[in-house]
Amino acid sequence: MKNKIKKQILKKLCLNKELTKSEKDLLKKYKLSGGGSIGIISKVCRYCKKELSEENFEFSTTYWSPMLAPCCNNNACKESGEKQEAYECQNIDKNCNECKYFERIEFSSNIIAQTANIFGNIGCYIGECKQKKIKVGANRNIFQGMDCFVHRYNKK
Ligand SMILES: [Zn+2]
Repeated sequence: MKNKIKKQILKKLCLNKELTKSEKDLLKKYKLSGGGSIGIISKVCRYCKKELSEENFEFSTTYWSPMLAPCCNNNACKESGEKQEAYECQNIDKNCNECKYFERIEFSSNIIAQTANIFGNIGCYIGECKQKKIKVGANRNIFQGMDCFVHRYNKK
C-alpha cells in the first residue's frame, strides 16, 4: 500500500472518521497480504497528549521498527518528541554507534556487528572506542547492550 493512502486511512481511523468502500477494501487487502500494522491508532499526540483534529493532525515515525504514529502539527513538539524517543531507545540499545567514546572510521558490509542479537550479516560501522582504545563495530537502531555505553548527548 502506498504511504499516502496508508496515511489517509490511518488518519481517518485515528479521528473516528468513516472509511470509504475502497479504503475498507484496501485495508482488508493490506491486512490479508500480511502488511502488518498500518500504524498506531490514537486520538492524542504521542508526545504532548493534545487532542488531535483534522486541523492539527500530523504523522511521526516510531524509532524502533519504524511505524506511522499520530502527533500534533506543532513542529517543536514533533522534533523534541522524536529526539527524546530516540535518546531513550538508544540508551536501551547501548550500541557503540551513539556512544560518546565511539569514533566512526568506515562502513563494512563484511563484518558482523558485535551485538547480542544480530540477525545475519548486515554489516556495521567500524570505529575506535576512545575509552578502551580498541576497534569496535557499531550499528544504528540495534541492541548491543554495552555496559560501558555513555550516550553522546551526555556531558559526563
Ligand atoms: Zn504534540
